[in-house]
Amino acid sequence: MLLLKQSGCGLSEFLKRITQGDETMNDFSQASVRRALEKADLSVLRMALFQATRDPEIAAMVPEPQTVRGGAGVTYQLSEKYRDALVEKGVGFLTRGLEQFESRVPDDDELRELLNMAGDPLDDAEFRARREIPAFDPFPWAAKWSSSRPALPDDFLVVIVGAGFGGIGMGVQLENLGIPYIIFERRPEIGGTWSINTYPGARVDTPSAVYEYSFEKSYPWTEHFAQQPEVREYIEYIAEKYGVSKKLQVSTEVKGARFDEATSQWDVEVVGPDGVSRSVRANFIVSASGLFASARELEVEGVGDFTGEIVHTTAWSSERDVTDKKVAVIGNGSTGIQLLGQIAEKANRVSVFQRTPQWISPREDYGAPVSDELRWLMKNVPYYWNWSRYIGALSTMNLYSLLTPDREWQAKGGAFSKQNDAVREFLQEYIKNQVDHRPDLISKLMPNYPPFARRMVVDNGWYKALLRDNVDLVTDPITRLTPGGIETASGAQYDVDMVVTATGFSVEKYVWPADYVGLEGVHLQDKWAEDGTKAYMGMMVPMFPNFFIMYGPNSQNTSGGGAGLPTQIEIWSRYIASVIMATIENDCSTVQVEQSAFDSFYDNLDRAAQNTIWLLDESSSARNYYVCRGRLLVNQPWPHNDWHNMITRPNFADLHMSASDPAVQSGLLEESR
Ligand SMILES: Cc1cc2nc3c(=O)[nH]c(=O)nc-3n(C[C@H](O)[C@H](O)[C@H](O)COP(=O)(O)OP(=O)(O)OC[C@H]3O[C@@H](n4cnc5c(N)ncnc54)[C@H](O)[C@@H]3O)c2cc1C
Repeated sequence: MLLLKQSGCGLSEFLKRITQGDETMNDFSQASVRRALEKADLSVLRMALFQATRDPEIAAMVPEPQTVRGGAGVTYQLSEKYRDALVEKGVGFLTRGLEQFESRVPDDDELRELLNMAGDPLDDAEFRARREIPAFDPFPWAAKWSSSRPALPDDFLVVIVGAGFGGIGMGVQLENLGIPYIIFERRPEIGGTWSINTYPGARVDTPSAVYEYSFEKSYPWTEHFAQQPEVREYIEYIAEKYGVSKKLQVSTEVKGARFDEATSQWDVEVVGPDGVSRSVRANFIVSASGLFASARELEVEGVGDFTGEIVHTTAWSSERDVTDKKVAVIGNGSTGIQLLGQIAEKANRVSVFQRTPQWISPREDYGAPVSDELRWLMKNVPYYWNWSRYIGALSTMNLYSLLTPDREWQAKGGAFSKQNDAVREFLQEYIKNQVDHRPDLISKLMPNYPPFARRMVVDNGWYKALLRDNVDLVTDPITRLTPGGIETASGAQYDVDMVVTATGFSVEKYVWPADYVGLEGVHLQDKWAEDGTKAYMGMMVPMFPNFFIMYGPNSQNTSGGGAGLPTQIEIWSRYIASVIMATIENDCSTVQVEQSAFDSFYDNLDRAAQNTIWLLDESSSARNYYVCRGRLLVNQPWPHNDWHNMITRPNFADLHMSASDPAVQSGLLEESR
């Protein structure tokens, strides 16, 4: 057999085979190559072959724009009429031309020409916002020293809190720069979200090809939307491969830290596996403690009276068994949607308690394996992986018009914007079709607010599961738990053995419960309680020098850009590393955001937020985790290109650096005049 078959080997074994080399992945016989190319995505293959061969006939094959998901985005697809010709060219190149071929990173001019060919022509801002997406550079988001790395004091240390995607991504950045760091992780293993959430059906709902760091090329995902064990395995693999594992201390919790103004260092209090508290001196702290680290527990009368099991989705373990049980699932967000199908297959009865209907979208290839042919193409066709990334991202480049109203469109009777209304119509049809046009279900399931006002949920067969004989959908509000089950507002009683609370997370608890104490003894949580939970660029807070947050308040970008969260993490890590490096290169010991810059950032942010769907749609803003106490908390509110400009390079005019050495400090003051 030509191509690798994963069946029959565990994930780790599979990974070992595929990363250490598997003969079947290196089969370049004509028949094998042709078989793989015939399964290729034509737009991707066209770009890869053109870049490798510069064949003008390939350039003349022009892709057409196509809308996806009812108009949520646009992508560019090449007509099938070109397949035979393109496959022939591919076979020729791969069987005869590959030996002389040398892969190289295109310069800006070439890259621009290529990006323009792949979709519509880009203006300067668009080019800047997209140039790293195909990830030709080995480390597209690497921070770089201005010359060689300066000497650092022997005890120089950056403490990273948390070993999820954020902490590991930050570790890779510092590792490459030669900056000493240590990662403390309170759990016994790394992975964060992907170690904590092991409930049935847990998987990424953004494509695996997007949910990956851009420096790890052609990772051999087995599914288009990887399941939780595979994502956790991936992060383990990254930590090992990029040298981060040796700087990790697991089962070690950061309890808090206090900034010592005399030494310009943080005293970090950690408690290790032995339960003993110790202090670690750090020059910088990067908190990568996650947005979804604090479970939101069920808050309803009678919780203590219930005699069965109550399990939050974060507390799921493989020993939990729902076989023949009467189960209640509370919540229909991303988690509740993912787990229903698998629970319903085993349980005696499942009652799904829904407070608010969600917009739930299908995704192409959700649940599907990555074919052997695709994996072969990714590994063997030069630039195929890069163009797969870029063309895959095209449909989510510009999502701002889904998130901001079009007043003219509304004046003509539209609900929100042309693009948003088109998606709404598409999803309405989807709901009707999924539930076989059953009017009783349609009326309960149809949201009365625009899509994207809350996080879009991906359908994992949830609607189909609702049609099963052993599943019912309850929309009557829960009033209390009783010893034997759940009572709702109409007085109905539901007998239940197990309550699964898919109630999500307390996202407002950033960096909680660690206690960080900055200048003048100010506690971060107190400051946030008073001023609102805010961080400049999502990362920096005045009075907290040398302290950064990853995935902090207002840092989530949902307005486009085509990149997944791991790439966002690379961008944040480059920003943070650049600030740390500038501090070192300027012989300074502290850096913090200026209060005036912070205030002006938030004036602009709060103003822009007023015009977003998250605050405009009153019916959902109260129950939308992006919003907290009337303020936009989680997301950034600007168009992607604007945000990209702000976040990719620090504006040092907004930051204040100081040196403990008076001579250096007076030099800095001179410079700033
Ligand atoms: C079920 C689920 C599915 C998701 N699916 C997607 C998806 O498909 N696509 C997507 O883009 N995003 C998804 N997300 C969001 C996801 O959280 C992020 O993509 C990403 O994993 C966040 O990484 P992180 O490192 O910032 O945080 P986390 O993964 O939460 O990691 C934070 C780590 O910090 C540790 N920690 C916290 N405090 C301390 C302390 N004081 N001391 C020591 N250690 C500490 C925690 O134990 C944890 O390991 C999902 C989230 C959940 C909950």
